[in-house]
Amino acid sequence: MGSNHNSQGDQNDEIIVFSIINPSVCSECGAELTQGRFLKMEKEKPLCLECADLDHLVYLQRGNVALTRRSRKYPNLSAVVVRFSRSRHRYERQGLLVESEALIRAEKECEGDAADRKISREYAVRVRERADKEYIAQFSKQILMQYPGCPTQEAEAIADHACQKYSGRIGRSSAAKAFDANAIELAVKAHVRHKHTCYDQLLMKGWERTESRSAIAEKLDQVMREWN
Ligand SMILES: [Zn+2]
Repeated sequence: MGSNHNSQGDQNDEIIVFSIINPSVCSECGAELTQGRFLKMEKEKPLCLECADLDHLVYLQRGNVALTRRSRKYPNLSAVVVRFSRSRHRYERQGLLVESEALIRAEKECEGDAADRKISREYAVRVRERADKEYIAQFSKQILMQYPGCPTQEAEAIADHACQKYSGRIGRSSAAKAFDANAIELAVKAHVRHKHTCYDQLLMKGWERTESRSAIAEKLDQVMREWN
């Protein structure tokens, strides 16, 4: 299942994510990846989306050409999802992972188009569950206590993402674990990395996570100090 796209720094390179057929295990966190889950190969090793720093993206199944094109119109982080076809012995595109903001914007643009409206609802597969408002309110309050300089809107976005993550994975009752100071720091750092540094652009250029992380480390520290 190797992909050699990492070896080139070509700007036209796409980040490839595999929709897996055989169960696998993330080489970094040990998470079990069952059939149908997504996986990224890095240095020949499988990574779950969270470890690959792609877990904030939402899945858009292929089928709606207009919506797909519009989702990628802006320079956002995105990845192509492929799956191996046993009958045809080749990898086939299944869809895209895109930023939720990019998908929402693309859907709005498609709504201008009466014919596309129905189709866009049909094909936009939301991986995320509906957010629990109270949980988000609590979480963002915790974030603001720990990082008073963080803009309220961004604290809500961070809490919203954490809510989706924990609700899907370990059940809402265990979500309280997310209020742990260390978990909050990790969530805030991940957000700053994606939104306040050129981290995503570097990933899109084919840079590896470790290189990208050290390239943006100073900027990340700067924002964290401003928010602290
Ligand atoms: Zn992992």
